[in-house]
Amino acid sequence: MNPHQDLADKIRRARRMVILTGAGISTESGIPDFRSQKGLWTQDHSLMEVVSRSFFEKNPAAFWQAFKQIFQTESFHQYEPNEGHTFFAELEKSGKEVTIITQNIDGLHTKAGSNRVIEIHGTLNRHLCSKCAFEYDLNYVNEHELPKCTTCGIILKPNVVLYGEMVHHLDEAIHASTDADIFIALGTSLEVTPVNFIPLEAARANVDTALINREKTPFDSEFDIVIHDEIGRTVRRLQRLLE
Ligand code: NAD
Repeated sequence: MNPHQDLADKIRRARRMVILTGAGISTESGIPDFRSQKGLWTQDHSLMEVVSRSFFEKNPAAFWQAFKQIFQTESFHQYEPNEGHTFFAELEKSGKEVTIITQNIDGLHTKAGSNRVIEIHGTLNRHLCSKCAFEYDLNYVNEHELPKCTTCGIILKPNVVLYGEMVHHLDEAIHASTDADIFIALGTSLEVTPVNFIPLEAARANVDTALINREKTPFDSEFDIVIHDEIGRTVRRLQRLLE
């Protein structure tokens, strides 16, 4: 059967959907990913070391300077959700229970209107004081070269999961995935652990699984349906089939 038709039929029948997204869902909003041909990592491997807990602890000033540059934090508010994000927000509006597990830190699923979003790698919109746990927003961080807590004087850490840190809400993400009628991964290289184990858990629980990604991933063979294409073009096609 045609994979698009097959996926559209499964989406139509599903009541509970879990969607795992990676940086690839936001490239059509203008945010570069890490590992595709034009990805940030592909251009400069050393960036990976910078976005790590150990680098933050060793040299917080250099960390903040590099972090702001890598994620272009000054212009982050300009990014808008694209058809990939709105497709799933609309499915939720239509009455389905749609849980988004996102590796992205850009907040675009929430901006698109999705209400059940698990930000497994945190968010760029919040920055924490490790002493009093007060949270500061991105504007505050952009206004200060080395952002510190106004009460404790401690240097803030982005509420983003850095290399060497634990992901957030993993149990909740696995629970939702193994309890779904359909699990769809999009725009992710599935190179990042432990997130890349989540589709395997869903498959083991006999949940229907699908992958939409421009490039092949090491886990393609684990999915029932695989579509190698752009997300925008694919969701437009799915939308037409669902009408
Ligand atoms: P990745 O960069 O490793 O992989 C992205 C994948 O998406 C690639 O395989 C690529 O082929 C695919 N892709 C890119 N654009 C696509 C499109 N338009 N249609 C279909 N496929 C497309 O990303 P990852 O797997 O999410 O892992 C990288 C880590 O980078 C994550 O932890 C995430 O937190 C972080 N990150 C986040 C953002 C963001 O928040 N927008 C941006 C860059 C990196």
